[in-house]
Amino acid sequence: MSKSTDLKARQDAAVPAGVATKGIYVVKAENSEIWDADGRRYIDFAAGIAVLNTGHRHPKVMEAVAKQAQAFAHTCFHVSPYESYVHLAERLNKLAPGNFPKKTLFLSTGAEAVENAVKIARYHTKRSAVIAFSGGFHGRTLLTMALTGKVMPYKRGFGPFPAEIYHAEFPHAYHGITTEQALADLDRLFHGDVDPKSVAAIIIEPVQGEGGFNVAPFEFLRALRSLCDEHGIVLIADEVQTGIGRTGKMFAIEHSGVVPDLITMAKGLGGGFPLSGVTGRASIMDSAHPGGLGGTYGGNPISIAAAHAVLDVLEGEGLCARATRVGQKIRTRLEGLAKDFPCIGDIRGLGAMVAFELVKDPKSKEPDAALTASILSHAQARGLILLSCGTSANVVRLLTPLTIPDAVLDEGLNVLAEALQDAVGRDAKRAVA
Ligand code: PMP
Repeated sequence: MSKSTDLKARQDAAVPAGVATKGIYVVKAENSEIWDADGRRYIDFAAGIAVLNTGHRHPKVMEAVAKQAQAFAHTCFHVSPYESYVHLAERLNKLAPGNFPKKTLFLSTGAEAVENAVKIARYHTKRSAVIAFSGGFHGRTLLTMALTGKVMPYKRGFGPFPAEIYHAEFPHAYHGITTEQALADLDRLFHGDVDPKSVAAIIIEPVQGEGGFNVAPFEFLRALRSLCDEHGIVLIADEVQTGIGRTGKMFAIEHSGVVPDLITMAKGLGGGFPLSGVTGRASIMDSAHPGGLGGTYGGNPISIAAAHAVLDVLEGEGLCARATRVGQKIRTRLEGLAKDFPCIGDIRGLGAMVAFELVKDPKSKEPDAALTASILSHAQARGLILLSCGTSANVVRLLTPLTIPDAVLDEGLNVLAEALQDAVGRDAKRAVA
């Protein structure tokens, strides 16, 4: 029996079934490659779900973490605060869009950042309702599950959910939902379900992650901004997946020129160490009373040290520009493949957040979840780690580290092409170049 098979049996016996895994038991990782318990090498096109923008074990991140571990590993910021937390807040306040005073609060997970953004918006507005979007994903806690607009695998069986959460349509050009229709849906919500004057916040991912890499049209984001201004609603950009250079800018919303009131971030911020944050208008961030925000581990010193190194690396290695180049390269390759494989119905994304949607027929656009699963498993068998997404589980998303060397990126894209050919059937299409 291979070590991986043995580990899978042990996992099945010891870990709940709800914790799904791909079964690649890692023993070592370096930049954009992973080695498993049986010595197999994988190219990593998942980056720990958009966490490792700076790659696995970036030397500068590792050095910062080792140095911090020599000083202190935990005190709880509320008990004994430290300068590095304050300095990271200062850095993010400068980096986040908006020409106004800002403040930042640190937490540990993306869901926690979203929970806190909603708490802050409610406190500030003295209102309770929150509007989120179909296909959105905001986390697995009770409130963030309620905000999430995708039932499987996130919501089934876990209700009831907190009240006062409403979902509006997210625009989706490929599936015929225009910005106008999405705005009309919000109007419907405001007339039929919830008074806009009761709405504390609108939360949106500038590019939906788990929902299928759907890019919010800039005019839609601009319209949300004016609705929020009109009704005194707090606009929250959930940048947990899109932030920290992934889309070619520090925050994806910057592409649109729209300035949100609050930004939630996590994943890429800690470079592999658990850290999340909420950055926003000081006047809103300061609403809650002392002791109302925080937590035991929020802004853990090791994670904060890692985040400083991540920001240094992003700037020093020009990773925002690199994200644009990596994304362009992936897109060009996918466009080539789409000519040979009509099952690729759509290619979309922003920067190095690129995905393709698989359909049974380009005209009907019927989702092909089985083909998607098959591509993922053929890729894995050939040594490439891929993730799917989309409300119909028919989208393959590519999230390479931004530091991936060109040679490894090319190699991974070649494996992807082979996996596509494997999944479609060797006879079904011409050989892939
Ligand atoms: N928001 C978005 C946009 C996300 O993509 C995720 C994680 N995929 C979360 C929130 C939740 O983050 P976490 O898993 O760290 O709680």
